[in-house]
Amino acid sequence: MRVTIFGTGYVGLVTGTCLAEVGHDVVCVDIDQQKVDGLNRGVIPIYEPGLEPMVKANHAAGRLKFTTDAASAIGHGEIIFIAVGTPPDEDGSADLKYVLAVARTVGEHIERPAIVVNKSTVPVGTADKVRAAIAEALARRGAQVPFEVVSNPEFLKEGDAVNDCMRPDRIVIGSGSPEAIEKLKRLYAPFNRNHERIVVMDVRSAELTKYAANAMLATKISFMNEIANIAECVGADIEMVRQGIGSDPRIGWHFIYPGAGYGGSCFPKDVQALARTAQQCGYKPELLEAVESVNYRQKGHLFELIQRHYGGSVAGKTFAVWGLAFKPNTDDMREASSRRLLAQLWEAGARVRAYDPEAMHEARRVFGERDDLVLCDSAHAAIADADALCVVTEWKQFRSPDFPRLRSSLRDAVIFDGRNLYHPDQVEGAGIAYYAIGRGRSV
Ligand code: NAD
Repeated sequence: MRVTIFGTGYVGLVTGTCLAEVGHDVVCVDIDQQKVDGLNRGVIPIYEPGLEPMVKANHAAGRLKFTTDAASAIGHGEIIFIAVGTPPDEDGSADLKYVLAVARTVGEHIERPAIVVNKSTVPVGTADKVRAAIAEALARRGAQVPFEVVSNPEFLKEGDAVNDCMRPDRIVIGSGSPEAIEKLKRLYAPFNRNHERIVVMDVRSAELTKYAANAMLATKISFMNEIANIAECVGADIEMVRQGIGSDPRIGWHFIYPGAGYGGSCFPKDVQALARTAQQCGYKPELLEAVESVNYRQKGHLFELIQRHYGGSVAGKTFAVWGLAFKPNTDDMREASSRRLLAQLWEAGARVRAYDPEAMHEARRVFGERDDLVLCDSAHAAIADADALCVVTEWKQFRSPDFPRLRSSLRDAVIFDGRNLYHPDQVEGAGIAYYAIGRGRSV
């Protein structure tokens, strides 16, 4: 099928590539000329495991094209995806300016019937706004072209996006049009072979489903962080508690890891946007507000532990920081916990030596040149000439460090572990003071 995708970010690029991989004819449009030029030369703008060879192979096979020419791209697609960003507005609600700009562009150029599929995460009611924006642009041209607007939220996870796209848990299609539903079922048939994964519903329910999924996951994280903080107060070990509850199938093992708070481009903004939607309807979303405030506090928790250890003064100290991305297997630093920690350390007069396996380029872009930051090219380089180590992202390569080497390298022999990667006995046995999340015995 002929597919057009607006936006070549994490969602658009991965979706376009996976659709091309199963044989569809895909054109990806972006307004970022540099990104498009890079993609046409085989430069992949994001780090996502498995993506690069797939982009290159499908581009070479002519099934995946990149352009900034919206008009010709719209001419290509019988299905047109919107996969552009929906960043938070000043009040936390989702800013729809990119989505509606695409809708207007579609209305300005569409010449034959098409299905416009919204993949961006958008508040309930956005499909109506997209429909109105397309219709208005069509009316301005005096043109009449039939089109459908469908909601098809995306559930991929950064770091495992290709796998999620090729083997989705579910594909939600929100539409009242039997023809549009049928067409999307055909588009997704290659991903829906072994058992039924497609869930069809009305548009508004589909729009809300995406927020509900992210809000549920964020709630699990904030819940565990709250219990971790209680564990710390009462002298219990959250890692024991986690094992004690995860085996209950009603609770399960997933997403019950305490840590330095959730970040990324989705959970923080989606929890906020859902809360604003509720408030706009006159409903007070008490649970969502708590999820958000617990997370905000949690992002400052590692710094609190640092302050506690140093008696409130870290001025002049140098901290090695392992992990800058908001989670492993991505270079994305949007809303990452590391950003808050670094800001707090700098504010308190400390210096930072940071390393991340994939996010160094992004870190250079985010932080720029600073006297109090050294971006290191390895985990070992980061600990050289440091007083203490902070672990912020749970990359696999940080899981089993050489503790005697850390002991001799770190001037103050102390680790602040924001992801509970180590066993306290092992660290303390190596002569290193150890602070982690919710491990009461260590405070
Ligand atoms: P992103 O910021 O990585 O990419 C968005 C892209 O859209 C950018 O390349 C930008 O240049 C482009 N763009 C903006 N306006 C455009 C226009 N008018 N025409 C063409 N391109 C345009 O965003 P993302 O992370 O891929 O997220 C996209 C949407 O999907 C958001 O609503 C997000 O909440 C949602 N989502 C993201 C994830 C994720 O893990 N990143 C997962 C599920 C859903």
